[in-house]
Amino acid sequence: MALESIIGQERVSKSLKRTLSSGRIAHAYLFHGPEGSGKAAAALAFARALQCEHPVDGDTCGRCASCSKAARGMHPDIHVLMPVTKDTDEEERGRRIQLLYEDPYQPADMQSLPSLDGSSGASNKQIIYSRGQVQKWLQRPMSFHRVEGQYRVAVILAADKMREEGANAFLKLLEEPGKRSVFLLLTHRIDHLLPTILSRCQQIRFDALESPVIERALMDRGAEPAMAAMLARMSGGSLRRAIAMVSDEDVMAVRDAVLQFLRQSYVGKGDSVVSLVDRLARPGREGVKFQLDLLLGILRDLLILQQAGNTDLVVNIDQIDTLSKFASNLPHARLDVMIESVEQTMMVVERNINVRLALVTLSRSLAAAMRGEQAGVIPLELVTG
Ligand SMILES: [Zn+2]
Repeated sequence: MALESIIGQERVSKSLKRTLSSGRIAHAYLFHGPEGSGKAAAALAFARALQCEHPVDGDTCGRCASCSKAARGMHPDIHVLMPVTKDTDEEERGRRIQLLYEDPYQPADMQSLPSLDGSSGASNKQIIYSRGQVQKWLQRPMSFHRVEGQYRVAVILAADKMREEGANAFLKLLEEPGKRSVFLLLTHRIDHLLPTILSRCQQIRFDALESPVIERALMDRGAEPAMAAMLARMSGGSLRRAIAMVSDEDVMAVRDAVLQFLRQSYVGKGDSVVSLVDRLARPGREGVKFQLDLLLGILRDLLILQQAGNTDLVVNIDQIDTLSKFASNLPHARLDVMIESVEQTMMVVERNINVRLALVTLSRSLAAAMRGEQAGVIPLELVTG
């Protein structure tokens, strides 16, 4: 992919092309912005353009030997790093990186694609860069001489996954970068990076992709227009998530379960809530975050309906009758408190805590808010213990 073909990030692609044309290449760039906004696509395109033998207007020519190798993931001076769990083997890591080369917008990392064989093998194991991984995939290759490229380029996906010791090993490299070494760090959580790393990177900000852009991209990938329109709204600006939803026939079933969770929180007895929580917690941390995102979408829709706002903004447009009934049956519902509760739960789920407990707590908090009780958001401490 060329910089020119990056989806919906014209400002970024223009700025990267200008950088390349000027020849003033920094040692480290930090691509930051929401998940699924195209950071990996841009980083791979930038890496490829850096190596191109005959760049055109700061972009890849797409024809030289270097471009062709880079496009296939075979360029010896482009190293892509992806954080994985400790027990992931080298072959799987390689296959995941290859997926990104094939289509940098599709899910390939262990969070958005927990298993490669389609099994639901989601795990709660930590996905990190250990010190050993940093040494093996970054320090060593970036210390060798360039093989054939113009630069040695390292693309570090989810750079926030470098925990302290890994980050310190990396920092040494950043402090004394070899000549013509370029590090491209990617993250959607810039606040998780060490300040010492941040200060050494030139920052490139990505915005969430607009719904119509995602809709178009989904249709280009063969999605039905109506489906594309709905998933684009549900995707929260993440093309990767939208692509994952198109290929996941279960997404509507998941949303039904989320709606059911909301309903049962209100009317249900303890037992039915617990069995729903068991179901929702099954796909692991990332799956739960996705479900909470769907829940947020539903609550925001309810807020629009409650305030008799513009229904064009409703995401779950196919459920508008159900949601309208819901909104009129619960005139006292504190939707603002409910949204806040879900957002808090998402933060809690990000941490290493009991996901089931967090969902049970959320259910109680939602029930109170739906009755208009002023219980407020249940404090985090109660969940994290
Ligand atoms: Zn080229």
